[in-house]
Amino acid sequence: MQKLKTGDQNLVKQMNKSIVFHTIQKKGPISRAQISKLTGLNKATVSTMVSEMIDESFVYEIEATQSSGGRKPVMLYFNNHAGYSIGIDLGVNYILGLLTDLNGNIIEEVSQDLTTIQYGDVKQQLYAVIQTLINKAPDSPYGVIGIGIGVPGNINHEETIILAPNLKWEHKDLKTEVQNEFYIPVKIQNEANSGAIGEHIYGAGRNISNLIYVSIGIGIGTGIIIQGNLYTGTSGISGEMGHFTIDANGRKCRCGNNGCWELYASENALLEHAKKQKVLEETNAITLKQLSTEAQMGNKKVLQVLHTLGENIGIGLTNIINTFNPQMIIIGNRLSQFSSWISNPIHNVLDERLSYYHKENTDINFSILGKHSIALGAASISISHFFKENKLENE
Ligand SMILES: [Zn+2]
Repeated sequence: MQKLKTGDQNLVKQMNKSIVFHTIQKKGPISRAQISKLTGLNKATVSTMVSEMIDESFVYEIEATQSSGGRKPVMLYFNNHAGYSIGIDLGVNYILGLLTDLNGNIIEEVSQDLTTIQYGDVKQQLYAVIQTLINKAPDSPYGVIGIGIGVPGNINHEETIILAPNLKWEHKDLKTEVQNEFYIPVKIQNEANSGAIGEHIYGAGRNISNLIYVSIGIGIGTGIIIQGNLYTGTSGISGEMGHFTIDANGRKCRCGNNGCWELYASENALLEHAKKQKVLEETNAITLKQLSTEAQMGNKKVLQVLHTLGENIGIGLTNIINTFNPQMIIIGNRLSQFSSWISNPIHNVLDERLSYYHKENTDINFSILGKHSIALGAASISISHFFKENKLENE
């Protein structure tokens, strides 16, 4: 029999440890014997891994008080307070920051309006938000384990911001700058990808392997989860579905293409259409909040504009469903607040345009994490990175 090389043994050990860790994290409180039974690992291996994780403060044990006779079982728990993560949603006109435990439970929230998009000023405001959250972190063995930031723009595999059009930023190495400021690992991801991960881990898309998160805000971006993993493309900038063509002869988009989906189905499209239709008497600066209030009061012009928006969203979703055959589509970001008015027109368009098979097999949902999906996703990217660094999760 061939002897295992040291490298292989380490790999086997690491895989076993991550299996035991995930079992405690997902099924805890659980006993050593139950873990052994569930995973097929022998009891000695389970005990060794558990002892290691108790020493590292990732797991703790409590003797059960009730017992049906015989020895009292000792139950193992994942220590979700071993450290804390920071998740930031860097919007175009706001910063939302969350401090979470290692299970994504929100401990603190800080929200600020951004009055400028000037890089240096935004960075200072971002630092202040991060510092506030660090100050609020309870004492713990690992402290703040990471900072995740969701940014509305193209992020490459090195996590450099290549282009954030609405912020007018190009080639910014925000990751290194924040890391040098706080000496805490930083992960940067595109906002739609962060939202997709947030919903996949904590929200509407839990246990769904194939899902597309459609972030409808000022523009439209999408996050693609395939077989449980985020798909980011060759250079990290996949998911720009806001720029596929839905009207070949449509007007010019800032991306260079004509008739892009986001010209008809985004927040900007909604506000422009509302202005054109003179839905309010004072039409100079219509806001989403006004439209929401008016829709609730039954303003017919506003309802008509929202109906058209829903139909236009449905046309784009038809393309996505035909391409990916996802189990679920999750509509998130600011326009998801209009779900009660746009849901029916979306479904009508899908009914008209999709083949029977696709209609039967795709769920259309709205984000359940709401305004937190991007920041929670960003926090979870940092948690996952921390677990990998500590050999609790495989690469
Ligand atoms: Zn475009």
